[in-house]
Amino acid sequence: RVKNSGRGAAVFFDSSMEREAQARTKVEQSLRLAILEKRFCCAFQPKVDIRTREVKGIEALVRLKDDEGVIQAPGTFINLAVELGLIDELTHLVLAEIVKSIDLINETFGHDTTISINVAAKQAGNPEFMRPFAQALEATGFPKRFMVEVTEDAFVTKTHFQDEILPIFRKLGVGISIDDFGIGYSSLSALADITADEIKIDRSFITDIHKRPRSQGILRAIESLSEALGMTVIAEGIETYEELAYLQAATRIRYAQGFYFSKPIFLEDLKPATPLASEARASLTSRPAQENRPAYSRSGGYR
Ligand code: C2E
Ligand code: MG
Ligand code: MG
Ligand code: MG
Repeated sequence: RVKNSGRGAAVFFDSSMEREAQARTKVEQSLRLAILEKRFCCAFQPKVDIRTREVKGIEALVRLKDDEGVIQAPGTFINLAVELGLIDELTHLVLAEIVKSIDLINETFGHDTTISINVAAKQAGNPEFMRPFAQALEATGFPKRFMVEVTEDAFVTKTHFQDEILPIFRKLGVGISIDDFGIGYSSLSALADITADEIKIDRSFITDIHKRPRSQGILRAIESLSEALGMTVIAEGIETYEELAYLQAATRIRYAQGFYFSKPIFLEDLKPATPLASEARASLTSRPAQENRPAYSRSGGYR
């Protein structure tokens, strides 16, 4: 209860801070426990060729199950995991999960799709994580299938990433992808110094792109620069037909990821009957191109 006196207010303040600290400790403990008990799973979201609907690659997106069995999206725990130094272990668990599920992954998405793993910028700059991680990727026997997704911050902050770590991954044939491009701190000119195979344009530029001339301009600039630098461009977070139609009509961007094509998929949802898995694959890859052809012409405006 809050009293009117200054002293009372101080007491109130103390106890609320205490409650906050207790709540935080509880979140920390449950995160530690979830990782310790391996209560996690991966959802896989395809990267598709806009024109053919073929799956070019998949991205592993981690989820945790809390004490009540409720699945938590990474937004609720990744930053904390980084802060608490638990993220390295979690990333190795993600890799182990991929290796364990590789047959089902191949059957569902294809044998030559790339497999992307997200790595936090802090991990990317840390050789003590990245060296053993590179070894673990090599030990799978199929390092060339993998891509590592890192946000642009990892490329601009002065760390060991660019000079020391990137060459190791390059040598293994592991692809490098710049995630969430456009919302970090790098300028377009910083792109020129980055050696990556793929650049993923952040969803914030893609949302309602058909209605936003400024985003369209930015998109064109990123597209030209990426082409000049030999990087594959992926549009993140396509949700609507109109967004897709714009990309097809007004850009040369060939690959996309987004709920419009597929939400992240849990492999266990496909497991019970193997035929289901091939069915899911068929629905991803062979949707008639006709169905989604944009009614939008390259010269602008709707047909
Ligand atoms: P991200 O790597 O940029 O992944 C894309 C996020 O956008 C995913 O959220 C995905 O479910 C969501 N998404 C995809 N398409 C759409 C769409 O059309 N509309 C909307 N609204 N959202 C879409 P998710 O799975 O919640 O992951 C959030 C972030 O957590 C990821 O962003 C990534 O930065 C991080 N993350 C996920 N798994 C890992 C991991 O294993 N390690 C690390 N370090 N970070 C991870
Ligand atoms: Mg990603
Ligand atoms: Mg992203
Ligand atoms: Mg994003």
